[in-house]
Amino acid sequence: MMLRLQKYDMNIVYRPGKEVVLADMLSRLHPTTGPEIDIEKSVFAVQFSADRLQQLKEETCRDPHMTALKNTIIKGWPEKPKDLPKNLRQYWSLKEELTVEDDIVLKGDRVMIPESMKQYILQTIHSGHQGIEKCRMRAKTCVYWHGLSHDIETFVKTCETCLKHHKSQPHEELLQHEIPERPWHTVGTDIMTLDGSDYIVVCDYYSKMPFVRRTATAGQTTSTGIISALSQLFGEQGVPEKLVSDNGKPYTSTEFQRFRKEWGFQHTTSSPRYPRSNGLAERTVQTVKNIMTKAKESHSDINIALLAFRSTPIDHKLPSPAELLYSRKLKTNLPSVIPNTLSKKKEVRKQLEKRQQQQKMYHDRTATCSLPPLSKGQPVMMQKEEGGKWTPATIIQPSNEPRSYVVQSPNGATYRRNRRHLMNLQKPTERHVRFYDKPEIIETRTPPPISTTPEQNDDHIQPAAKPPYITQPVVEAQTPSPHQRPQRSIKKPERLIESI
Ligand SMILES: [Zn+2]
Repeated sequence: MMLRLQKYDMNIVYRPGKEVVLADMLSRLHPTTGPEIDIEKSVFAVQFSADRLQQLKEETCRDPHMTALKNTIIKGWPEKPKDLPKNLRQYWSLKEELTVEDDIVLKGDRVMIPESMKQYILQTIHSGHQGIEKCRMRAKTCVYWHGLSHDIETFVKTCETCLKHHKSQPHEELLQHEIPERPWHTVGTDIMTLDGSDYIVVCDYYSKMPFVRRTATAGQTTSTGIISALSQLFGEQGVPEKLVSDNGKPYTSTEFQRFRKEWGFQHTTSSPRYPRSNGLAERTVQTVKNIMTKAKESHSDINIALLAFRSTPIDHKLPSPAELLYSRKLKTNLPSVIPNTLSKKKEVRKQLEKRQQQQKMYHDRTATCSLPPLSKGQPVMMQKEEGGKWTPATIIQPSNEPRSYVVQSPNGATYRRNRRHLMNLQKPTERHVRFYDKPEIIETRTPPPISTTPEQNDDHIQPAAKPPYITQPVVEAQTPSPHQRPQRSIKKPERLIESI
């Protein structure tokens, strides 16, 4: 309702029930105590790169035709179409759908493009070099102008790259494949060779979403390459229930079987008698190859071309592969309206903000002086430089500098470190025990005086002295040696004896 009403500027007038001729649903419907409905206040927000959005606004304002249309929309439509200027009559049948939002004209949730930007938009729609129908479907999800469909046809028919790669082979028999219950349940995979490189192509049976990864130079793809690409993909997208492939060597190796078991998916290979049962993956290979070849030839970005394919509706009644797989539209280089379709989005946002605040609080706390003080003989981990590795050390004494300590590393060298670079240890590590706790390496020698002049702050104070000395054992001697396990007699509980 909000969507439909937002183009009107309304005055709400009270009328008593007896004057209302038609009984409306809302006056009869009692409010129920259901869950709160999540309504976005602003539904229309055009997504486009910031500078393109600015260009779109400026060009719309500069275009006399668009300005006239905008004025008509804002001021109101006349009673009859003939009262409109001639060049605006074509919009009469669309008047219910047209709105103005932030200087941009929208037809429903499609952005109206001014004359000067049409060529750029046509190029962008066709960036994946898809056919006329696909381009029309893609355009329908985001942009509009009168005659768009015809302009797309002309543009695609005259595209040099597309003409060059026009399909000449006869139609092949279309192979059916099972449609799984949900996205990313079954995925097909195949190897593709293009321009001296091997690629693995993975395609989801439900959404038809394609993924491409380079595996090796042409003909060099091994099990390891396949496994590396698939584990990367499954790590990002999740593990499917079933993987379908051909009988190629990389897929039948013992290494691949091990990978399958470890990641826990079923693996079906096409039967040697009927090698084309991996039809979807093979078809996807053709599509991807086509997209990549054309992109390369027209010197355009391969990933933008693939994105165009992933975000183009599959057909007139099905959304894009990306929408089927992720349940959201992907932002592309075309202007579009992308609502946040996530359920409980307000709650999620609140939790995200809370989490961020907590993280900041925690970070600030540890970043400042609020770290607890350390005591003499305390085993710690020390960072020699900011962001560096942590190595074992022991606190000798607090330094004269604020929040700093003099510490000793296992080789006997002493350092002055800020509290920030010292991590309190509840238990000494094995290295601590090895270096500080063995009585034979502890000498009751007085250590040389430790210099604590301010200009040496946070720097190495004393070079390593050999053998390591220390005035007294800093860790209690009862700490068990890491090489000795405590002995314990094993006795079976009675219930287990009985059951045997
Ligand atoms: Zn083309």
